[in-house]
Amino acid sequence: MQSEVWQDPELDQVFMIDAEIIDKIVESADLKKSETVLEIGTGPGNLTGALAKKCKKVITIEIDERLKPGLKKTFDKIGNVEIVWGNALDVLEKGKIRFDKIVANPPYSISEALIKALFGVRFEAAVLTLPWRFVERLTSNPEEEDYSKLSMFAQSFFSIETILKVNKEAWHPRPDTMSMVVRIRPRKPGPDDVFLREIALQDDKKLKNALREAIIKRKGKTKRTAKDEIDDIDLPKKLLDKKISQMSLLEIKLVLAKLGKRKYRLVCFDLDGTLLDEMKYIWTLIHDELHTDRGKRNEYMEKYYRGDISYKQWAEIDIKLFVDKKTSREDIIGLMKNIKLMKGPRETLLELRKRGYVLAIISGGLDLVLYHFLPDAHELFDHIIINRLLFDEDGKLSGAEIPQDFGKSGNKADSLKRLAEKESISMDECVFIGDSDNDVEVMEVAGFTIGFNPTDKIAKVSDVIIRKKDLREVLDHLT
Ligand code: SAH
Repeated sequence: MQSEVWQDPELDQVFMIDAEIIDKIVESADLKKSETVLEIGTGPGNLTGALAKKCKKVITIEIDERLKPGLKKTFDKIGNVEIVWGNALDVLEKGKIRFDKIVANPPYSISEALIKALFGVRFEAAVLTLPWRFVERLTSNPEEEDYSKLSMFAQSFFSIETILKVNKEAWHPRPDTMSMVVRIRPRKPGPDDVFLREIALQDDKKLKNALREAIIKRKGKTKRTAKDEIDDIDLPKKLLDKKISQMSLLEIKLVLAKLGKRKYRLVCFDLDGTLLDEMKYIWTLIHDELHTDRGKRNEYMEKYYRGDISYKQWAEIDIKLFVDKKTSREDIIGLMKNIKLMKGPRETLLELRKRGYVLAIISGGLDLVLYHFLPDAHELFDHIIINRLLFDEDGKLSGAEIPQDFGKSGNKADSLKRLAEKESISMDECVFIGDSDNDVEVMEVAGFTIGFNPTDKIAKVSDVIIRKKDLREVLDHLT
């Protein structure tokens, strides 16, 4: 403890002197030897030292350079502590440093600014000691008096657990208030969170500009269509011109309620990799099993990707390669041992039906596979768009019917547009759930998209990403 340093109340320089509490804080961060931890407000380095023992590296930010000599003496010998001198809020905003967790007794006066800064930061978990009253505000429910814009924003981004009460005696000098240690974890967003978060992140902008940015970013719209969409929401002009930081909780709620009216009505699934869990795409599986001519197979794939032949032509050539191998329905069914049903599709579909959604499949896979795993698919879905295999009387494969909209490009966007039109549903009201690169185009036109164990490309066009092989997870996002 560096008692020779004059502690500056302006900088909230109250230092934690209770070693037991320091241990508990470190413990509740559940640190691993591979992790990097960010600390905000080094002070005399009492928490810093405890953290350094439990993780790979501590990056600690301190504003008061008078602490330099003392901290240098303590930490120069310890290889895994890096001190960054400056204002922690500026450092976070610059976004240059990477870390896994945050553990800190940050200066009280920056509590709110710090939580807001964390909205835009990537981390796995944070354990923070915060003023008691502030924590009450942060964690209060919508029915409670303390519920505020901050509670709403923070709870949209994070789950917040209170861990430990800290009395004034744990500090030197004693502060005016009690504190609470909280553990904060980023939450995955639900459909309402998507806009709420955009609003929270653009606190310094006018509502109309923040909404416009959000619509452009979230839905891949142009400036013009985003503007039309905002006009459709029908909000008072005065409100649209207000800065988000100036808006009341009630006003934010009004905006969300208006946005919420734009509900999704149709949910469309991809089959392979989404409803089914498989190692290899079904087409590849059949090619490999039948040992079809690899030269031809690749030649036509390349031709398709170059745009020399249509999807329909490509699919028909592939089917011809299968027919030439005299394959039968039984042979193909035999391959199903390499595929399993994803966890929870039936439950998910029945629940979505109950919630009033129109349900569809648009798949570049094969109907035989779909009906093998979901024999009642016709009852589960309102629309099924998939390649249909044809067999002769002896059960030998004889050809296939390729859905009309797959004809040219093979992409699913046209199919979804046609379905939506048939149901008088706008594209904004369509949800697409998919995983693989051939879903990119359709996901760019759907109003809300869920990447289900997605490829990198799909992750980029997903509003929500689920990385768990359980379809029931989508229910959280489709209220
Ligand atoms: N972590 C230490 C110190 C807590 S006191 C402990 O637990 O004892 C808060 C510390 O934050 C002080 O050292 C103060 O100088 C520092 N500080 C204050 N404002 C800061 C800011 N904006 N950025 C970084 N450090 C800040």
